[in-house]
Amino acid sequence: MNLTEIVKRYANGAEVLADWLGSGGECVNVPQAQERTDICLKCPNNLPGSFVTGIVTDAIRSQLELQGEIGLKTDGIGGLKTCAVCNCELKLKVFVPLGFTGVDKKEANEEFPAWCWLPLEHNKPNEQNTHQGQE
Ligand code: SF4
Repeated sequence: MNLTEIVKRYANGAEVLADWLGSGGECVNVPQAQERTDICLKCPNNLPGSFVTGIVTDAIRSQLELQGEIGLKTDGIGGLKTCAVCNCELKLKVFVPLGFTGVDKKEANEEFPAWCWLPLEHNKPNEQNTHQGQE
């Protein structure tokens, strides 16, 4: 991935985050976030990322926790870093509803590994976590 592609990924990520927070920042339930966490923890794409995005992620997580929406914690969350495929901060991404991840079914199947929760969730027959307009 060249620099232009990386910057585009971050810009897209910021837009996706704004959409999600603008909609109220509703999170997936903890069991689902735990499933995602467990998958990411075993994935070779869970790698150290940008210090800046880490700070932003922590700030957003703290804000959501303060809002009392949900206890944004999963077992092993401290081991989540940045996804090397999409440059997303995984500590936050595991709580984002599928429709707000900015990854549609085609991208999930073509760009992410088969074991990743993104294609797994997109390919579930009765997906309950899809945001209208994102599919
Ligand atoms: S590719 Fe999927 S499973 Fe791997 S770190 Fe990224 S989001 Fe997690």
